Amino acid sequence: MAEMRILKERERQIGQVSAGEELKILCEKKSLAGSVSQRACVFCGSRVVLYPIADALHLVHGPVGCAAYTWDIRGSLSSGGQLHRMSFSTDLQERDVVFGGADKLYSALVELIDTYQPKAAFVYATCIVGLIGDDVEAVCKRVTLEKGITVLPVHSEGFRGTKKDGYQAACDALARLTGTGSTQGVGPCSINILGDFNLAGEIWMIKEYYQKMGIEVVSTITGDGRVDDIRKAHGAKLNVVQCSGSMTKLAEHMKQTYSIPYIKVSYFGIEDMADALYQVAEFFPAYPQILEKAKVIVQTEVAALMPELRAYRTALNGKKAAIYVGGAFKAVSLVRALRLLGMKTVLAGSQTGNPKDYAQLQDLCDPGTVIIDDANPLELSKFIKEKDVDLLIGGVKERPIAYKVGVGFCDHNHERKEALAGFVGMRNFAREVYSSVMSPVWRFSSRRGGDYIPFRETVVCKAH
Ligand code: SF4
Repeated sequence: MAEMRILKERERQIGQVSAGEELKILCEKKSLAGSVSQRACVFCGSRVVLYPIADALHLVHGPVGCAAYTWDIRGSLSSGGQLHRMSFSTDLQERDVVFGGADKLYSALVELIDTYQPKAAFVYATCIVGLIGDDVEAVCKRVTLEKGITVLPVHSEGFRGTKKDGYQAACDALARLTGTGSTQGVGPCSINILGDFNLAGEIWMIKEYYQKMGIEVVSTITGDGRVDDIRKAHGAKLNVVQCSGSMTKLAEHMKQTYSIPYIKVSYFGIEDMADALYQVAEFFPAYPQILEKAKVIVQTEVAALMPELRAYRTALNGKKAAIYVGGAFKAVSLVRALRLLGMKTVLAGSQTGNPKDYAQLQDLCDPGTVIIDDANPLELSKFIKEKDVDLLIGGVKERPIAYKVGVGFCDHNHERKEALAGFVGMRNFAREVYSSVMSPVWRFSSRRGGDYIPFRETVVCKAH
C-alpha cells in the first residue's frame, strides 16, 4: 500500500484484501479534519431517515443553508401527500444567535401546523442550535400540548458525531412515535419494512412481493411512511430491516420494548432479494403456503430476467468496478450483483460501515480489492486510477470524481430516479451499468491513453 501515499492518520481505515490474512479496518470514528471526507453530517443522517415520512412536517431549526439540500431533489416517492418535499427552515440570523432562537421556532411551528395540518412534526436541531443552547425539547412539548399534534425534537446537531449519530437521533425520534397507536386488526402474518426509503417507488415493489406471499405490511419506515402506521408498528410480528446501519437502533428498541424480533435483509441483486423473501416466509413456519408463494415469485421473476442478464454479462465480463456508498450493507449486495454481471469489484467502501460489515466485505471480495472506510475524493480517484476501474458506483458526491477521472458512473444513492431494488431493479441496474461502462465516450478519456485527442489538435488537423 506504500505507493498509494495516503495520509498517515488514514492508513488504518484502508486495506487490501489478501488471501489467508485477516484485514482489520479501523472504522466508526470521526472524520479526520483536513481529509475532506465524503461523509455527510449528523443532521444529514437524521434527515435521510426521517424525511420520507410524507404526512409529517419537517422543520430545520438553524440557518437556511442547512436546509438547502432539500428532499425535493431526492427520489423518495409518496403515494399520497407531498408535505415531505417542502423544505422549511427557521432561518436563524445573527440576532437569533445572540438572543436565542426558541421564540422563532415556536412561531414557525405554530404557523406551519396551522397552515399544513400535519400528522406530526419533526424539528431538526442543527449545529448552531447546539451552540446557543435553545431548549428545542421544551418548545416541542409546548406546541404538542397547544396544538394537539406530536412535535418531536431530533437532536441532530451537525458536530455531535458522524452521519451514523444522525441515524441514532432519527431512531430516537421514531421510537417516541411507535407504540402510540391502536394495533387492533393487525393480523398474525404481519411485518414492518424498515430502512427502505422508496427511491423511485422501490418500496411499492417490495411491498407487492410480500403481499403476494400473503404477508400484511403494517408500516413502511420510512419510505412512503405515514405517521399513523408508525404509531401502530408495534403490532407487527416481525421487523424486516434493510439499510441496517440506519435502522437497527429502532429495531433493537422495538425488540426490547415490544418483543418484536427483527431480521436484516437487502433488496439489491437477485440473491439478496430472493433471500429477503425466503427469510420472511421462514419466520412464519405455521403458514407453509407463504414459502410456497415466495418460491413461485422468485422462480417467475428470475426466469424472466436471466436472458437479458446473460447478454449483459457477455459484454461486461471482466470489467472492473469500484463501490463507495453510504451503508456497507449495500456494498455487500453490490459486490454480489456485479459478480452476476461478470464484473469484478476492485474497491469497496462506505461512509458508515462497522467492523462486521468490513469483515463480510473482506470475505466476499477477491484478493487485491481495496476496502476503505470514510474515504475522501483524493483517495477515491487515486485508487480508481491505480486499479484501472471501468465503473464507479456511488452517490451525488462521487459522480464528479468518476467523470473527472474518466470512468463510467452508476448512481446508487437517494437522488436517483430509477428503481434498483427488487428483481425489476436488477434489470435496471444491469442496463445502467452496461450503458455507462460500454459507452464509446470513454475512448476519448485521457485515462485510457492513445485514443484521446485534445480539442485544439483536432481543429488543427481539420484545417489541414
Ligand atoms: S454540519 Fe452543521 S451547519 Fe453544516 S449542514 Fe450540518 S448541521 Fe448545518
